[in-house]
Amino acid sequence: MTDSTAPITQDVMTIPRKLPEGPINIVGLTREALRDTLIAQGTPEKQAKMRVNQIWQWVYQWGVRDFAEMTNLSKAYRTELARNFVIEIPEMVSRQVSADGTRKYLVRIAGDHEVEVVYIPETDRGTLCISSQVGCTLTCSFCHTGTQKLVRNLTAGEIIGQVMMARDDLGEWPEPGQGTGDNGPRLLSNIVLMGMGEPLYNFDNVRDAMKIAMDGEGISLSRRRITLSTSGVVPEIAKTAEEIGCMLAVSFHATTDEVRDKLVPINKKWNIATLLDALREYPKVSNSERITFEYVMLKDVNDSDEDARRLVQLIKGIPAKINLIPFNEWPGAPHQRSDWDRIEKFADIIYKAGYASPIRTPRGEDIMAACGQLKSASERARKSRRQIESEAGIG
Ligand code: SAH
Ligand code: SF4
Repeated sequence: MTDSTAPITQDVMTIPRKLPEGPINIVGLTREALRDTLIAQGTPEKQAKMRVNQIWQWVYQWGVRDFAEMTNLSKAYRTELARNFVIEIPEMVSRQVSADGTRKYLVRIAGDHEVEVVYIPETDRGTLCISSQVGCTLTCSFCHTGTQKLVRNLTAGEIIGQVMMARDDLGEWPEPGQGTGDNGPRLLSNIVLMGMGEPLYNFDNVRDAMKIAMDGEGISLSRRRITLSTSGVVPEIAKTAEEIGCMLAVSFHATTDEVRDKLVPINKKWNIATLLDALREYPKVSNSERITFEYVMLKDVNDSDEDARRLVQLIKGIPAKINLIPFNEWPGAPHQRSDWDRIEKFADIIYKAGYASPIRTPRGEDIMAACGQLKSASERARKSRRQIESEAGIG
C-alpha cells in the first residue's frame, strides 16, 4: 500500500519512482494493487480510481487485450500503460468437445505447466469449472488429481485468466459499451472451483481472482453464481465467508470419521464434528443460503441406507443441498461407482428428510472431463505425445 508512503502530488508524473522491472500483467491485479501501481507510475491520485474502473472495464467486460483500443483514455496515457503493463492470460493448448456439448480445455501456464478447465452448457446456464493448483497436496482416494503431487499454486491472473480464455472461446465478449448478457442469457454464467487443486490451500490468489469475477467492473457475476469447493480446510472456511462470500461446497463423502479418514485424509486433521461446526457458521457470516454437500457414491464404501440416514442427522440445522456424484472412474482407481438403484435409494432417503438431493449427471465422460478426472487425460495425452515422439525417433 502506498497510502503510508510520502504524499503524492499532481506533478508526480515527473518524479521517477522505483517500480518492478519489466512490464506487469494487469490480469489478476486487485483493484488496490492496480491503483497503487498506477499512482506509483505517475497517475494523479485523484484520478486513479477512475482509471482502474476504465481499465477493468476494457479488460474484463469487453475482453480487450491491446491498450491502443482503450479509446476513453488519452493516447499518451495508453502509450504509458503499454510501456508498463501487459494483458496476458493462459494459453489454450487444446480443446475437446464432448457429444453432450461439454468442452474441456487444456491450458498452459508459466513454467510450461498445464491445467484443465471444463465448460458445461445447460439449458438455463453455462458453468465453467476452473482449477486453482497444478496437482494437489491432498490424497483423496477417489480423486485422480490426488495421485499427482502439487506442482505449484496458480496466480490470481491464471485463475481469472481461465474465465477470460473460455469467454474468448465462446465468443462472449460484448461490444464496448454493452454489458455481457444484454442480448440474452450469458453463456458463461457460473463458476465452480472444482477443477484441479484445493482452493483453500491457495487462498489469497483464489480470493483476488474471485473478487475480480464478482466485481461490477470485472467479470460481473453475482457471488451466488460462484461456488468454491473444499475438502474441508477448516481454518480457511471462516475466512472464505468473510473475504470472498461466495457459495460454498464441501467434499463430505462419508458419515463416520473412520471412513472419511480414508476417503478424504484431511479429515484426520479436521474431523467431521470440527468441519460441521465451521460449516454451521458459514451461511450466517457470508449471508449465503445453502451449503452444498458433495457426496461421491462409492460402491459398498459409503452408499448404505444407514449412511444416508446418518448424513441427514449430521447436517441437521445447516441449510444444505446434497449433491450426489456417481463416482467417475479412472484407470487404476481403487473404487467402483455405486449401482444406479442404490444411488436412487440413497437420494430418496435424503429427499424424504427434506433436502434437495440432485444426482449429478456425469458430463463430458467421453472426453474424461467429469469431476475428479481432470489432469488424467492431459497426463495421458502428454504420455502418448511422448510415446509418439519416441516412436518417431524424435523423443
Ligand atoms: N479440492 C476441492 C475441489 C476440487 S475436487 C475439493 O476436494 O472439494 C471437486 C469435486 O470433485 C469434489 O467434491 C471431489 O470430491 C469430487 N471428485 C473428485 N474425484 C472424483 C471422482 N473420481 N468422481 C466423482 N467426484 C470426484
Ligand atoms: Fe485434492 Fe479435492 Fe482431489 Fe481431494 S478431491 S485430492 S482435495 S482435488
